[in-house]
Amino acid sequence: MSYIQFLGAAGTVTGSKHLINTSSDGDGKGGCQILVDCGMFQGPKQWRERNWQDTPIPAREIDAVILTHAHLDHCGWIPRLVKEGFRGPIYATPATIDLCGVVLTDSGHLQEEDAAFYNKKNKSKHNPALPLYTLEEAENALKYFQPVQFGETKQVSPEISFRFVHAAHILGSAMAEITLTVNGQTRRMLFTGDIGRMRDKNVAPGKVVHSGPQEDETADVLVMESTYGNRTHPKDDPRPELAKVITQTVQRGGSVVVPAFAVERTQKFVFMLKELMEAGQIPKVPVFCDSPMAIKAVQIFLKHTEEYSDETKNLISQYGSPLTWPGFSFASTAQESKTINDAHYPCIIISSSGMVTGGRILHHLAQRLPDPKNTVIFIGYQAQGTRGFIIKSGAPEVKIFGDMVPIRAQIAAIEQFSDHADPPELLEWLRTFKNKPTVTYLVHGEPAASSQLRDLMTKELGWDVQAAQWLQKANIS
Ligand SMILES: [Zn+2]
Repeated sequence: MSYIQFLGAAGTVTGSKHLINTSSDGDGKGGCQILVDCGMFQGPKQWRERNWQDTPIPAREIDAVILTHAHLDHCGWIPRLVKEGFRGPIYATPATIDLCGVVLTDSGHLQEEDAAFYNKKNKSKHNPALPLYTLEEAENALKYFQPVQFGETKQVSPEISFRFVHAAHILGSAMAEITLTVNGQTRRMLFTGDIGRMRDKNVAPGKVVHSGPQEDETADVLVMESTYGNRTHPKDDPRPELAKVITQTVQRGGSVVVPAFAVERTQKFVFMLKELMEAGQIPKVPVFCDSPMAIKAVQIFLKHTEEYSDETKNLISQYGSPLTWPGFSFASTAQESKTINDAHYPCIIISSSGMVTGGRILHHLAQRLPDPKNTVIFIGYQAQGTRGFIIKSGAPEVKIFGDMVPIRAQIAAIEQFSDHADPPELLEWLRTFKNKPTVTYLVHGEPAASSQLRDLMTKELGWDVQAAQWLQKANIS
């Protein structure tokens, strides 16, 4: 019996990891075993602890990884998998491989830093605190990556082949169409990874890469994300609201702090600030992009021009490279990052991680959250249990570096920047399918989001839809 086992992103939005197992007794020794995505759990402790658990079959028995995109919740566990004995190929698009080169090494570095910090403060219950993997282990994992172009068919084993198609989520993002042939029977599985917005300007302003996921799909088994299963994005232009919040903050002498994913979201936000400043809609205050990873990601964006949206092409042709815009400082070193702390004049600070789970944003928030003159603007999804979620939900204080920090700054959220399709957009995409899948499993969503999307798809499309459960085995043959 062949099955898919959901090892992560089931009942939550992080830790995407789906095992296709075709060994006859499930021990991984026969057949072919593939992991689709290998993400890290983030957020609440009970999820993060799962990062320390072994895979249900030994890592060395897994033949290959197919990676949809370079977000940490989809790729962040790869160095750990290699550390546990995995030695197979990791298939990804060329842009995803370039991005993983910075995302994974940064992750290893951060984990070493966090472990060292807790050991120094002696605040860890584990003694000593250990990194999930080190920078060196992350670098070692990169040698297993193999590029696969969009549309190219790759034979992984005699029974499994796959193809990447556009997901329109972030640079390099793909869905994996996987074909399994066992005993003369063919089954087609489609793993969506994260699904981007349906169209360019109207529903996804400021989109750096072109939008619109691959249409006219066929699938017997669909494994689909459901991050925004219970929420619809506002469809109006975010620029006026953003301009108002920034201008008001600057007028009262405060600064704006923006937690943002280093990949895609930071670039999108920087591009929009540039546009607003040039149009005279916000004051020209200094902008600090405090994320070495974001800077490297910009360089990768500049290399992959084939994925640009028209907006991006126009902006770059008008103003040149985003790395050389006057008034925009990109902080690479820790010293440059510390200098931003000394800025006692209005400025805009963009830093990661996007959900405030780690990284340099912690220092900026610890310093700026207690002052009511400042504003924190959230421009991305905040998973339950993350510091970002706590701050955004109006809590009076938040724990950073083991201390409680009072939240007196204004808190704002701009929801239009999402790189995930919402339910109306998902239905629009699903209606292009050439057939009705035998079964659809919803992953990558909080339980309320998955169940609401399940009900909507059942009602609107008449499909058999189930919310995947953690460690559930779904029969595919
Ligand atoms: Zn993603």
